[in-house]
Amino acid sequence: MASKDSNPDLASDTYQSPALAFKQALCFSCWDVSSNLSRCSACKRVSYCSAKCQKQDWNRNHKKICKKLVVLNKQKGYIPSAGRRWKDYSDEQELEFLKSGTWNVCELGRLVGYEPYCYHCYRRESQLEDKTKLNACQYCLLTSFCPSCQQTHPSAECVTLQDIAADDKIIVDLRRRTGKSSIVSFTQLPRKHYLSLSSAQDWHDYYTRLSDKGGCRSKMNRELKHLLNDPKEREFIEYLRCDTNTTTIQLTLIAALEAIMPNVSTRSSISLHVIGASGAEFASLPAFEELFHLLPSLTALHLSFVGLNVLEDLTDDTETKNSLTLRCCTACTEMGRSISMTAWRGPYHTYVDTECYKTPDLAAAFHSGFAVDEEAAWHPTIKYLAHAPHPTLFTAARYFEIRKEMGVWKNLGAKFVKNAEVNKWKGMSPSLTVCGDKPNEVLYQNYWWYIVKQK
Ligand SMILES: [Zn+2]
Ligand SMILES: [Zn+2]
Ligand SMILES: [Zn+2]
Ligand SMILES: [Zn+2]
Ligand SMILES: [Zn+2]
Repeated sequence: MASKDSNPDLASDTYQSPALAFKQALCFSCWDVSSNLSRCSACKRVSYCSAKCQKQDWNRNHKKICKKLVVLNKQKGYIPSAGRRWKDYSDEQELEFLKSGTWNVCELGRLVGYEPYCYHCYRRESQLEDKTKLNACQYCLLTSFCPSCQQTHPSAECVTLQDIAADDKIIVDLRRRTGKSSIVSFTQLPRKHYLSLSSAQDWHDYYTRLSDKGGCRSKMNRELKHLLNDPKEREFIEYLRCDTNTTTIQLTLIAALEAIMPNVSTRSSISLHVIGASGAEFASLPAFEELFHLLPSLTALHLSFVGLNVLEDLTDDTETKNSLTLRCCTACTEMGRSISMTAWRGPYHTYVDTECYKTPDLAAAFHSGFAVDEEAAWHPTIKYLAHAPHPTLFTAARYFEIRKEMGVWKNLGAKFVKNAEVNKWKGMSPSLTVCGDKPNEVLYQNYWWYIVKQK
């Protein structure tokens, strides 16, 4: 993934940090949903449930960024209540990103990106009349209003944002219980007979027909929204929806394999290269087993993660440092199946000249953003992939990225196995953009996809 969405440091969990925390609706330290939060009195950008949490966060990172936030606040002067245009707001934000010397990969960048503003007049708190505050929407908690404006926003939009808040709470709860911040609930037992993923209409169909969640058929609609009001059932359906943001990677890969390999149902070994891999791809590692569970004849899966953000030290053992065998479920292990994984840090076009390189069946770059972000750095790799000895799958969240990418491919004379279209296996859980084209713009993981043809 491009720097825009990536986080080279997997230990610090900014990648999955809830938007609610950046919007001051959760304690920034323990992520507790307390009604009694108090803000950092200096920067007023983060909230805490207790003095203990505040101190902990201060020592962890906040002392480094608080001062910078105070400076940014001071640079923003009062704006009359008539407000301003969205463009003024977004230009200001671009400038802030430049000033804070970062993008939304790190905590400071995310705090800059998610700074609350009034939904109607686009003013931030430091731009309001003296001593006035923004109020959060009581339903989604992710939208704010200044006292001079109307205190509502469109209900359809609020419902989408409530999904984001619900997913944030699931992730907070999961982290508290398990220490993990992503959900993987793929098919429990390997399928005995191959049923093509392309025969499934959508996630609902996949969960209830190909996977083993048939019992949920009447409990959720096609958008994976719960239909019953039982809290336990509701929670389970919310988990399923949240999980699509992880498993989107594996299902998109299977769909791509089906598109390029007529014999995918009888293949015993498949080799995949994941280009520009970072946080999202690594968080989804356990879900690669879904390839075994949906492809009954597959016994060996080889994964290579290549990119600037890849951590090469997969294990502590110096001998096997760059390669690893992932443990499969009991049923797969008994069938003699295994996933071998290697990691290589550096650009893909350099990797292809190394001894470790072997031509894969398919390469994939999820949310590369190569035409909008770090274009120069990506170019040699893209040039190589336009005529590589294997097909390459690309995804992007936004249409304007796809449009720009198509321009680049056209110049390189690339051909396509699959033209750009909306991906059936996009994530179903939205996320809030930090610098969108309109207020409360949301994105879906791997919304668009296409496959570049091999030479
Ligand atoms: Zn706390
Ligand atoms: Zn502060
Ligand atoms: Zn306002
Ligand atoms: Zn709302
Ligand atoms: Zn298994």
